[in-house]
Amino acid sequence: MSEIAVCCDDLKKHYQMGEVTVRALRGATFEVPEGALVVLLGPSGSGKTTLMNLIGGLDTPTGGRVTVADYEVSTLREPQLTEYRRDTVGFVFQFFNLVPTLTARENVALVGELAGNADEAAELLERVGLGERLDYYPAELSGGEQQRVAIARSLIKRPYLLLGDEPTGNLDYETGHIVLELIREVCDETDLTVLMVTHNEAIGRMADMVIYLRDGQVVDIEENEEPVPPSELKW
Ligand code: ADP
Ligand code: MG
Repeated sequence: MSEIAVCCDDLKKHYQMGEVTVRALRGATFEVPEGALVVLLGPSGSGKTTLMNLIGGLDTPTGGRVTVADYEVSTLREPQLTEYRRDTVGFVFQFFNLVPTLTARENVALVGELAGNADEAAELLERVGLGERLDYYPAELSGGEQQRVAIARSLIKRPYLLLGDEPTGNLDYETGHIVLELIREVCDETDLTVLMVTHNEAIGRMADMVIYLRDGQVVDIEENEEPVPPSELKW
């Protein structure tokens, strides 16, 4: 039996907008097995980003619990929360969020410094196929290349969990496939656990498990015995 990497138990998040309470998450319960690639699928507004923020320790829930590895994330306060984010989670977002005045290598090394392995920046960039682009600035790179820098940046910390929020949402068709292949590869070759959210149903087919989110609730969970290689996905 595999261990559980992420456990969400009756997770709730409400936003107060004046008189109106927005129930972004209405009691989400699910588990992510260690080492798996799990896709959380839901339409726009279903609570995906809210959920990622709670799991990543960027926001605190209104109710319920989130556990990641040995951290009970939902009860952590600063400075433990910062330590958790720094040591345990890697983030990849729809927009790449690179520092424009730093080269690819410097962007990755900056985060590597926190973990004491900044010297691995070049090696990781080679790993994501950017060995020839180490000294390029973000503006000199295509969207897909920038996203690969962002993936290298998230991996240099050697995170336990990689969280992706629509990581291909801002990429063209072909480039999106390259980034998904890279994510699948890293998941297969290391013990990294990946949780990726998307509204694109086709992407679910590459996952070991798909969790369907609707209106702030988990409506279905499917295990995928034979995940499809990302190169074969069509949308
Ligand atoms: P998704 O990522 O699936 O598109 P979100 O998690 O961003 O969904 O949003 C879920 C719901 O919560 C939406 O109705 C959204 O408008 C609302 N919401 C998200 N963030 C906030 C916020 N900071 N304040 C108020 N409402 C929010
Ligand atoms: Mg979102």
